[in-house]
This record gives sequence, structure tokens and C-alpha cells, in this order.
Amino acid sequence: MRVILTMGARPNTNQRRAQSRAARSTHIGAIAVCVLMVAFAVAAATPVPAAAAARRQVVAAFYPLAYAAERVGGQRVSVANLTPAGAEPHDLELTPDQVDEVLDADLVLELGRNFQPAVEHAAEQRDGPTVKLLDALPIKAGNKAGNKKVNESDPDALDPHVWLDPVSMVDIVTRVQKALTDIDPAGKSGYRARADALRAELAALDQRYRTGLADCDRHLIVTSHEAFGYLARRYGLRQEGVAGLSPDAEPDPKRLAALTDLAKREHVTVIFSEELVSPRIAETLAREVGVHTDTLNPLEGLTNAQQKSGLDYLSVMDNNLARLRAALGCK
Ligand SMILES: [Zn+2]
Repeated sequence: MRVILTMGARPNTNQRRAQSRAARSTHIGAIAVCVLMVAFAVAAATPVPAAAAARRQVVAAFYPLAYAAERVGGQRVSVANLTPAGAEPHDLELTPDQVDEVLDADLVLELGRNFQPAVEHAAEQRDGPTVKLLDALPIKAGNKAGNKKVNESDPDALDPHVWLDPVSMVDIVTRVQKALTDIDPAGKSGYRARADALRAELAALDQRYRTGLADCDRHLIVTSHEAFGYLARRYGLRQEGVAGLSPDAEPDPKRLAALTDLAKREHVTVIFSEELVSPRIAETLAREVGVHTDTLNPLEGLTNAQQKSGLDYLSVMDNNLARLRAALGCK
């Protein structure tokens, strides 16, 4: 390690990166690392095409942040999403290569507040900028599930699902625009133009939600996990989740019985499940209530098939709106 400290142009990051690699393979000794360092130096001295060299490397913790970075960054950035397609991002684990990606990125976008502890831990080892969106946005520690108060001093109690509120998504876009401009001031006008375009699309989406949910027979949505609290509050709905704020929190039988009573009393017609977690409990509840299930996508990630078919944040949000309208009997 001392060899690297004396040779490295960026000793802290190089040292950490080397430590990460050494931890993976005890066969890589100091000589091998020296050879690697020489190879890196040669690679760094080799001319690369201007366009590729200028692209800023952005690492986003999961889909909505990657979407915002791609839309605002355009051709000036290359975005890597740490959460694999079809995987659920709560408590994501990182591979050693992904830890290196986090260390080496020009910019890391994460939610923060313990949503993905492994990502946050890796980002703490960085020298470069990291944006923690939950801290950077004008969001108050809010409700747990639309109406229930939580202890605001408990960081884990903060509902992380801000991206499902189009108005908060506008704030995310603005924060991403600022972060990209900070690391690449020459791209300022392009970042602004692309962010303006996306903000306009999000404002139109917000308007469709306002109109679409303005006149409904019912206002209670029963979801798989409590991802829709911000959305529910924005548009005058109430949310009850079968699981809690994280999808792996299994409900106890008492909670299921209470939800069954509530759903019957409020004439709920649909229990919502989601694609990336097992629908088993939502199906059990639906059977108890005597209604069917439908999917509501919390946009925590898209599957490969969804991405191939051209779905993105905006189209999934419109799909969600159609399903909400059908379930709630909206005019
Ligand atoms: Zn979630």
C-alpha cells in the first residue's frame, strides 16, 4: 500500500480502490499492483476520442435517479445504475466492481437516509462529489403512510419514496441539474435546456394526476408496501400498505385482519401488488376481502422487458394513474 501512496496522483482514492481489489484477491501482491499502476499510467497517457473523454461518469443508486441523470445529462454524461434491472433497491448489496465504480465516478447520486446503506457506505469513501437527494430536497420528515405521524428525529422513519410525487421529482431534476453543472460548468446551457424540458413534462404529468384523481368514488389505496405516501398526500388519497416502508417487512396476522376489515368497510375494489416483490401477501389479502389484485409500479426499478418495451418514469406513472382511476372509480 505504501508503494501506491508514494506513486498515486490521487492517493486516497487509489489507495481505497487498491484495498478493495486486494481484499478480493490475496494473490495480488505489491509487484502486481505496481504493474497495474504502470498500465494505468500508460492508459491515461494514451489519447482518447474527445467525445468519450468529455463524458462525465455518473453513478446513480437506483432507477429514478438514473432516469433524471440520463434525461438532464444527455450526451455529456454516461450513467450507471447500481440497482440491476428487475431488482428491488431497498438494502441493495454492491459487488466489489460496483464499489470501484462508486469510488471512481465523477458524481454519485443517492437517496441517503439509510435507504441503501451499502451505497452510502461506499460513497463515504469517495473524494468526489456525492448528492444525497433526501437531504438536498425541500422535504420534511413526513408521514409514514399518508396520515400517520412518525418520529421526525428518527432518520429511518423518513419515507424515502419521494420520486413517486411528480412535484418532488421536479425538485430531484433541479438538484441533478445543479450537480451536473457543478462538475461540468461547460455543459451548463445544455443541462438547463434538458432539465427545463423534463420539468415541463413532469408538470404536465402532475396536471394529469390532479385532473384524473379529482372526482373519485373512493380514496383509499391498499398497496404492497408503503411506497405511495407522498403521491397519496399530493392528490388527496390515503394509503395503507400490506408491508411497511420496506417491502421485506412481513405483516403480522393482526395487521392483515385489520386491513381486511378496513378494505371491506371502505369498499376497496383492488389490492395493489408490485412487480419486483412477491405478490403472495397481496393475493392473500385480496382473497380475504373478496376482490382482485392489480399492479401499481413503485418505480424502484424496471425489468429488462419493461425497458426493452420503451417504458420509462413518465409512461409508468401514466400507467399507474390509469390503474388508480379504475380502482378508485374516478370520473
Ligand atoms: Zn420502497
